[in-house]
Amino acid sequence: MHTRSLITIGLLLLTQDENQLRPDPPIVCDACDGWNRAQTPFRIFGNAYYVGVGGLSAILVATDDGHILLDGGLPQSAALIDANIRALGFRTQDIRLIVNSHAHFDHAGGIAALQRASRATVAASPAAAEALRTGRPTADDPQFAYGGSFPAVGGLRVVQDGETLSVGDQEITVRFTPGHTPGGTSWTWRSCEGARCLDMVYADSLTAVSAPDFRYTGDDTHPSIVETFQRSIDTVAALPCDVMVSTHPEFSNLFDKLGRRDRGIDPDALIDAQGCREYAAGAAETLERRIAEEQSAAR
Ligand SMILES: [Zn+2]
Repeated sequence: MHTRSLITIGLLLLTQDENQLRPDPPIVCDACDGWNRAQTPFRIFGNAYYVGVGGLSAILVATDDGHILLDGGLPQSAALIDANIRALGFRTQDIRLIVNSHAHFDHAGGIAALQRASRATVAASPAAAEALRTGRPTADDPQFAYGGSFPAVGGLRVVQDGETLSVGDQEITVRFTPGHTPGGTSWTWRSCEGARCLDMVYADSLTAVSAPDFRYTGDDTHPSIVETFQRSIDTVAALPCDVMVSTHPEFSNLFDKLGRRDRGIDPDALIDAQGCREYAAGAAETLERRIAEEQSAAR
């Protein structure tokens, strides 16, 4: 009896340890509670599932040989992402690869805990890897002066633009899109439902926002930050793109589209061949406005 209860407790602890994510302390910010509201996970298309929170995207691309996770939200999002993955019938421990849109606390903050729980490799561009490894934006980040540190990430694999990574027979391609951050990366892959396969895009933030003293214009390096940013916007506009999800789901109207699909108005509501181009056009407008503001301030 005594031995059996000890064994039972032992097994219980073992199971708990295996299944339990150990989150990092939460980050407090004005927008954080709103971003981190609970969100029921759902299938985006094929083997791609939305597992993020209400205001910060995270996507699971599931395969029989392990999963790919795109982004980890805030540190306090990690437990919600973990619960969403389990609610869909998958296991966080089966994540083999984690990738990140950009190394800011609201998209990379939960990665360290999710990486510990899964022992997954985290793939990142050279600039993003530097930020992830140290747990803070690099000095050339437009928002560097805000600080914005987050839990540092280990187990990094540095990748190059255009490289294709795989988990089982699922491939995912690296698309460098610097501008919002120096290491910003968009990710593309194909997901299938039966014979129907679509081009999926997880588009990085392309918003020209910065800490007060940063200027996009007036740098004499070549290519300048503005040229680099414009090229990233052009890259996203030109991607093969049937389904696009942005880092903040509302930037691609994800939940409006989901509502139309759930209400049976349009079973293909999440499929939008113009999604990447429209998103890029909005980013180009914001960047142009920002350049004009900087130029008029300089006069
Ligand atoms: Zn950001």
